[in-house]
Amino acid sequence: MKKPKTGGEIDSYCTKCKLDLTHRIIAMVGDTVKKVECKTCGSHHLYRKPKSERDAEMAAAAKAGSAVKKTKADGAPRTASERHAAAERAERERVSTWEKAIAGQPTGAFRPYSVKTLFGQGELVRHAKFGDGVVARVIDRAKVEILFQDGTRTMAHGIE
Ligand SMILES: [Zn+2]
Repeated sequence: MKKPKTGGEIDSYCTKCKLDLTHRIIAMVGDTVKKVECKTCGSHHLYRKPKSERDAEMAAAAKAGSAVKKTKADGAPRTASERHAAAERAERERVSTWEKAIAGQPTGAFRPYSVKTLFGQGELVRHAKFGDGVVARVIDRAKVEILFQDGTRTMAHGIE
């Protein structure tokens, strides 16, 4: 590629002709083309990359990965900070669910956790290591999901 210089020719998108056309460079800042004159209509305007070049760049950016495209304002995809906020919301919800289930329950309401005990949904569990929890879901005859203060754990139950 030739280095552009003032007075030289360059392909630019003409804002008047609305086409990629040959322009004459009339102003530069460093190595950057600033102003051009359209050889077709004679208008002076800021240099704009040819549309074909911009399209190619956009296609390359889209191919390069979702990250670049997803920051574009098309609504649906989420940015990293939005994902972070969603994760925080889920975390707060989990803690509040746990607090509601545990709050004000007498010690006797908790069954000590043991792999031999068969638990039912909503039962309160006291675990030697993880503390108090509530059975969020009975997965099957051998596995339960227990919500503890620091997270949900899949635990064994009803093992003979
Ligand atoms: Zn023009």
